[in-house]
Amino acid sequence: MVDSSKRETLGFQTEVRQLLKLMIHSLYSNKEIFLRELISNASDATDKLRFESLANPDLLGGETDLSISIQVDTDKQQLSIIDNGIGMSRDELIDNLGTIARSGTAEFLEQMTGDKKHDAQLIGQFGVGFYSSFIVANKVTVETRRAGLAANEAVRWESDGEGEFAVENIDRAERGTRVTLSLKDDQKEFAEPLRVETLIRKYSDHIGFPVSLSVVGDDDKEPRIVNSATALWTRPRSDVKDDDYKEFYKYLTHDFVDPLAWSHNRVEGKREYTSLLFIPAAAPFDLWNRDAPRGLKLYVQRVFIMDDAEQFLPLYLRFVKGVVDSSDLPLNVSRELLQQNPDLVAMRGALTRRVLGMLEKMASSDSDDYRTVWREFGQVLKEGVIEDQANREKLAGLLRFASTHGDNDAQDQSLADYIGRAGPEQDKIYFILADNYSTAVASPHLEQLRKRGIEVLLLTDRIDPWLVDSLAEFDGRALVDVGRSTPDLPESVAEASEDEINEQHRSLLEKMKKTLGSRVDAVKVSRRLVDSPACVVAAENDISPQLRRMLEASGQAIPESRPILEINVEHPLVGRLSTEADEAVFDDLSNIVMDHALLAEGGQLDNPAKYVQRMNKLLLDLNSGGAGE
Ligand code: ADP
Ligand code: MG
Repeated sequence: MVDSSKRETLGFQTEVRQLLKLMIHSLYSNKEIFLRELISNASDATDKLRFESLANPDLLGGETDLSISIQVDTDKQQLSIIDNGIGMSRDELIDNLGTIARSGTAEFLEQMTGDKKHDAQLIGQFGVGFYSSFIVANKVTVETRRAGLAANEAVRWESDGEGEFAVENIDRAERGTRVTLSLKDDQKEFAEPLRVETLIRKYSDHIGFPVSLSVVGDDDKEPRIVNSATALWTRPRSDVKDDDYKEFYKYLTHDFVDPLAWSHNRVEGKREYTSLLFIPAAAPFDLWNRDAPRGLKLYVQRVFIMDDAEQFLPLYLRFVKGVVDSSDLPLNVSRELLQQNPDLVAMRGALTRRVLGMLEKMASSDSDDYRTVWREFGQVLKEGVIEDQANREKLAGLLRFASTHGDNDAQDQSLADYIGRAGPEQDKIYFILADNYSTAVASPHLEQLRKRGIEVLLLTDRIDPWLVDSLAEFDGRALVDVGRSTPDLPESVAEASEDEINEQHRSLLEKMKKTLGSRVDAVKVSRRLVDSPACVVAAENDISPQLRRMLEASGQAIPESRPILEINVEHPLVGRLSTEADEAVFDDLSNIVMDHALLAEGGQLDNPAKYVQRMNKLLLDLNSGGAGE
């Protein structure tokens, strides 16, 4: 057996090494957050010990007062963060500080661009934790003893952050962990008592453990407690300043940026709990990973129970951060027990409504904040419309769209705005689905509606086909897809009855259908076009072309279906077709009209080479005095 007490040198895992480099490079201007991270780790360690001691009181030994202390040594240029929390065994130390990268590290690294500002924001969302010590230290020493282990089973970890770290067993009388930073020459400020005290106050005033400061060599001064040592959410709202909330949010989430909004509430009565919920200003890097850890930090009677308790909010609110502290849940509650707890359904409902209330408040004040919410989390909120029946109305009110009312792709129109402009006579809400804004806004399907000043919502997010499917109506008005065959257009657009008009042009329609063959399901006269000769529409019960493309791209087999070609009988090109005697020219023109209709709605041609041939022929004919003359 290997003597585990001997000193061994190990390499950081590749991803950890990359992270270290990037972090030191991009976080320089936020360097003091290392102290927040280390205090946060010390506080987590005391939280964990308190939690484990519920089941195993012996772990505490005689030392039941849990605390954190910070020591400044100006002569040696060292700063130490000391806790008497859970500590680490040798194996835990090796795993936690060097060889096991946090889940998502690789994915996170891929999103780094080298642009300092962008990367710093991203790192904020990711949370750099312990490694941030190396922004200010050229050597970090961790001495730790796991609660329950003997003094001679303590371990020391040491590294200069370059690529390797060393571990060896030591004797350590105290339980818990001491992290000592040997500061870089240009980081002396972090060995100045006053500077450090200010930072500790900033970063620890809201945690539930006392944090004291002592200065080595300063014998007349006892260590002093410098924070208020009451968990922020347990204080009455009136005692907490906005800045305290912001600082607590950053402490909780490792974010660098202030939250957009928060809501702090104590619920009394049948169930008693306190919640403090935050809306961040930016989406986390793993927002689209529906399996990424999410949820609130759970306490029971002030005792930390777990991070990422996902049971308190629905999946579509996965961007919300915060704390919930329950007075009723059992202290030994686990994820499994939480799932079965009958009180949970009610708590989840109440917390969900609270978040939606916060969002509604932001939305109604028409602030830039809600625009930020929509930009960052809008697509996730759309999941809510699909998944959360009970809150569908509320969520629908929060939706924002681009529309033909505006002149750019900003998604800033609500359904209520739309209805307000449409007036009481228009009992429908018109929308079009497209792959992107420029296709949507230039779509031939909008021509008649635009001419008559009827607004159309332009839906271009991947989730939109599902969204409109489950929303179906808002405020008693049906949502109508103008890209479909026979949409319920307003009376004014449908001047002549459909049958009548198709009858008038029957021979042209039949001839085109025959020419286009299996490319189309039918050819009809359109009532929605003004400037374009034709457009394609999906048959009433077919899936939309956007959805089809998306599903096909994800590898799903979709049953074959053909579009309907609608032609604009007022258009000169269609007029030309109706008088064309040359079969070959008629064939070419019909196919080109069809190809252009497909291209205009963002589709692809089955046979682009054939299209190019036909076009070239036509262009040559033009050159030689015009086709068919
Ligand atoms: P995070 O806190 O997000 O897990 P960190 O990089 O800050 O990431 O810390 C990595 C891990 O190292 C922690 O999860 C914890 O297991 C361990 N650790 C760090 N500091 C301490 C400490 N003071 N006491 C006990 N364990 C610690
Ligand atoms: Mg940490």
